[in-house]
Amino acid sequence: MTLDARRLLGFAFAAGDLLIEIDEYENVALALGAARALLDTDERGLIGKPWRDLIAVADHTLFEALLAGLRDGARGGPVVARLAGGRSAQISLRRLAANNDRVSCSLIAAPKGRSADSADGLFGQADFEAITSGLLDIARLTGADMELAMVEMSGLDEARQAMSPADAAVMDAKLAGAVRAESHSGSAAARLGDNRFALVRNRDGDSAGLAQRLTRAIALNTGGAAVNAAAHAVALEPRDSASRMMRAVRYALEDFMREGLKDTAPESLSEAMNRSVRRTLAQAGELGAAVSQRRFNLNFQPVVDLATGDAHHHEVLVRFENGGSPFSMIRLAEEFDLIEELDRAVVEQTIRRLRAEKDPTIRLAANISGRTITSEAFVHQVETQLKNCPEARGRLIFEVTESAAIDDLPRADRHIQALRGMDCLVCLDDFGAGSASLAYLQGLSLDIVKIDGRYVRELADSGRDGALVRHLVGLCGELKIRTVAEMVETVEIEEVVRAAGVDFAQGWLYGHPADRPEKPKRSPGVKPMNAKRVGERESWG
Ligand code: C2E
Ligand code: MG
Ligand code: MG
Repeated sequence: MTLDARRLLGFAFAAGDLLIEIDEYENVALALGAARALLDTDERGLIGKPWRDLIAVADHTLFEALLAGLRDGARGGPVVARLAGGRSAQISLRRLAANNDRVSCSLIAAPKGRSADSADGLFGQADFEAITSGLLDIARLTGADMELAMVEMSGLDEARQAMSPADAAVMDAKLAGAVRAESHSGSAAARLGDNRFALVRNRDGDSAGLAQRLTRAIALNTGGAAVNAAAHAVALEPRDSASRMMRAVRYALEDFMREGLKDTAPESLSEAMNRSVRRTLAQAGELGAAVSQRRFNLNFQPVVDLATGDAHHHEVLVRFENGGSPFSMIRLAEEFDLIEELDRAVVEQTIRRLRAEKDPTIRLAANISGRTITSEAFVHQVETQLKNCPEARGRLIFEVTESAAIDDLPRADRHIQALRGMDCLVCLDDFGAGSASLAYLQGLSLDIVKIDGRYVRELADSGRDGALVRHLVGLCGELKIRTVAEMVETVEIEEVVRAAGVDFAQGWLYGHPADRPEKPKRSPGVKPMNAKRVGERESWG
């Protein structure tokens, strides 16, 4: 090392606590400064060591991405990385042409940055929003110019599928490291889906360059598949109030998660938000039209009586034109006050179906939102329709879902009692999914409680003995309420719920939702013990 080179280093990193030079074999060729304070060894102890010994394993892909980025002309940091031994340092890299292309690396002791729990160092949406909010505060104070970049990878799924899981993991880790390396301090990046990422970084307005570097970062790890990054960036100009800015960030991110990148990048954060709101409104409008024009179908899934093996009734599940799960549409309908209209339309069609049904033993259970049950107009509609269709009387069941909270329990209970007075059974759906389930059980008089599928499926996953489900069934028994277990997918789960004393079961084991009420494809063996469990209103079967 010549005196010149030392001087060069000194100029480049006057602020560094420790300066390191990494040679073409990725080993430390030179170390100057406070090595002991950062890495518990003196400068000489570092010479000849691979850089991987100095950096915590969790941040290897981050460091690799910084090194690779240098070749492509990217800034080498600064990022905050964890060191071997547990301390953290702010690291900047430079490639010095005058110094045999060795990489010079300055480390400044840094407080531990906020680090993600995930193995790849990327945050989830909620944490990322919190970090962005913090960076916005910094930008406001310092006048720093930052941007929110959204990155979408094409071809990633195909590449993953074509390679071994181990190779796919390497590719994903590389990509995560590369995304982090582009972000502010290496710690402002998020994974928002299998192939979508977001990051905050100093503004350079060159999102094409960002996309190019990310594409190149994993080019050697895609198993030959064409994987390409595309990126849009919007400036985070802290002009608005902090809360409005963050709302705009949230809308922009949610839109990106839902829709991916569109052809043209939004010009500003507020434009990104407006686009998102416009799209949501358009979807809501489309939903409203689909409901009012009855552009939806009903599917039916059997709910099996574990005592007799027959279908006790079928649950009615709405399907829109795409045929998939209606869940996001239901959410949208609740957000935009369209849910009552939807529920009324579904109930109307359900009654119609009961009238047309040749088999008079078929009973149908329609879902209604916690919102709808507080509507008096809804109850009146049911009353009128049942009057006009005596065939449906005694065959209509309601499942009150917990996707929206019931805000007025006494009122909801009055309506539930009115429906029960019209010979309808009322079931509380999704029991245990929300925090208010027990309050509902206390405040409402019901016929049936449906235990949320997540508890039922857990019975198999964790091999638990179903103590929770047994307690619930015991509690319901005291209240003379019968129970349904949903998402029963295997014979093992059927056995556990049966042993717990559950009355009815629903799930793929007996049949998927179908376009007509079909017989259960499996009839559970009848156990006399269960046959003796009689509910309050046994005339219902
Ligand atoms: P839910 O009422 O809890 O309905 C059960 C959901 O679980 C259905 O999803 C069904 O297809 C699914 N499922 C049934 N068996 C199994 C199984 O063994 N394994 C698994 N993994 N899933 C199973 P779907 O049809 O996507 O409906 C989602 C939710 O949308 C429903 O949950 C309900 O809350 C709501 N929903 C559906 N139709 C209507 C409606 O007409 N009005 C209202 N307000 N909500 C509805
Ligand atoms: Mg339901
Ligand atoms: Mg449910």
